[in-house]
Amino acid sequence: MARISHWIDGRVVPGTSGRSGSVFNPATGEVQASVDFASADEVDAAVQSAQSASPAWRSTSLTRRAEVMFRMRELVDANRKEIALLLTKEHGKVLSDALGEVARGLENIEFACGIPNLLKGGYSEQAGTGVDVYQIRQPLGVVAGITPFNFPAMVPMWMFANALACGNTFVLKPSEKDPSASMLIADLLKQAGLPDGCFNVVHGDKVAVDRLLEHPDVAAISFVGSTPIARYIYETGTRNGKRVQALGGAKNHMLVLPDADLDMAADAAISAGYGSAGERCMAISVVLAMDSIADELVAKIAERIPSITVGPGSDESSEMGPLITGEHRDKVAGYVAKAGDEGASVLVDGRDGAPGDGFFLRPSLIDHVRPGMACYDDEIFGPVLTVARVESYEQGLAMINDNPYGNGTAIFTRDGGAARRFQFDVEVGMVGVNVPIPVPVSFYSFGGWKASLFGDTHMYGPEGVNFYTRSKVVTSRWPDPSTSTIDLGFPQNR
Ligand code: NAD
Repeated sequence: MARISHWIDGRVVPGTSGRSGSVFNPATGEVQASVDFASADEVDAAVQSAQSASPAWRSTSLTRRAEVMFRMRELVDANRKEIALLLTKEHGKVLSDALGEVARGLENIEFACGIPNLLKGGYSEQAGTGVDVYQIRQPLGVVAGITPFNFPAMVPMWMFANALACGNTFVLKPSEKDPSASMLIADLLKQAGLPDGCFNVVHGDKVAVDRLLEHPDVAAISFVGSTPIARYIYETGTRNGKRVQALGGAKNHMLVLPDADLDMAADAAISAGYGSAGERCMAISVVLAMDSIADELVAKIAERIPSITVGPGSDESSEMGPLITGEHRDKVAGYVAKAGDEGASVLVDGRDGAPGDGFFLRPSLIDHVRPGMACYDDEIFGPVLTVARVESYEQGLAMINDNPYGNGTAIFTRDGGAARRFQFDVEVGMVGVNVPIPVPVSFYSFGGWKASLFGDTHMYGPEGVNFYTRSKVVTSRWPDPSTSTIDLGFPQNR
């Protein structure tokens, strides 16, 4: 059976802890590989490698660092299909979706190619007489990324592209469920000319994560995953004096006003609810339908579901693949089972007719959900679309704002004034207007509000550059005998 090991100091390093995990093929349910789980000592070796590489990499010129990113851009572009195939193999998502993931990740490497421009500071000549003041941004040192199973290539790219371009060295702890993409990325970075030690991968579980959280040489942690773990990472990391950005889970609502194009809204709900089997933090999980159009909208969504082709991601005709594990599939199915008991209407039951031996479910549609029902309150993270009916815009808005999560949301309407009011009122970090999955492009930053983000810096884009650098302000005066005096008072500028 294939074995997936760590990447330390520019090469594959077999694990020695004696602990490992199983990597499944979600489309068949079979174990296809084992992944080594790092001990604290193995994490220390990776951090040591990153620490040793740090002085030379932070001294490397901006143009040279940009050159490495340009080469990495070319390599990822040339290997899109190979990366996507790995995603399909271990995550299960269909190939077209996997290619989309690679494309959205690649944007972040392209953004990082502009690092010489992004790291320009400010300069004030003659801030005082003969005194100049300027600001520079410097890397933090060794930074770590801890990533979820659902975007095994894109989320690491959100992190390492800016982190490395800013002059940091990096230790990645990818999801143990689909770890292979991170190894291919490590190899591509080496081919791009990144010096050994600048990018390391340690696989594993809580043992590896906890060591990163407490390691004195790790300056900052970027985390993406579920809310309980994000909160833990933020609290533990900051208590240990680290800079932390920890992105958590989501419950994304789509508010459909009566003037919306209902066919467009139904298409969007289907795409955003069931794409990647609902295992996206920006998936739409609740459609808020205004009473006057709710029956028509629900009918339009329901009539589209039977034509969705569910099957192995490697099959070109499949539109939706399996879930990540059997355990997760059963948990998602449990929400559908419970919804009826709680008084909701299960219009389409995805437990019926799921194909084969893999971790499959078909799409489910549940109408008449309300706060207080598990299928409304919890992040399901599966192909389950729920519909809550609302009497007014205000009621819909209040439901979104009362929700503990605040990752993404969307409004569907033809009324620009209503959309503008929504963007102003809604307490969510990423808002779509007739766009169901408003993941910001790489030159903005990604992040939710409330329980979807712990920390104050969003990920990638300009906020990513800020996160991975600290600013230093230099006040300088060159020796000029005519201005030299002794003055014990506090320096003044006038
Ligand atoms: P997860 O929280 O289970 O795991 C994320 C990472 O944390 C993994 O690397 C895992 O090994 C590690 N981890 C798990 N349990 C841990 C523990 N007890 N202590 C320390 N580390 C631990 O998340 P997941 O199931 O891999 O991913 C799905 C979740 O991620 C969903 O909640 C989804 O909404 C969220 N997500 C959020 C975003 C976002 O941008 N906000 C993006 C993608 C996914």
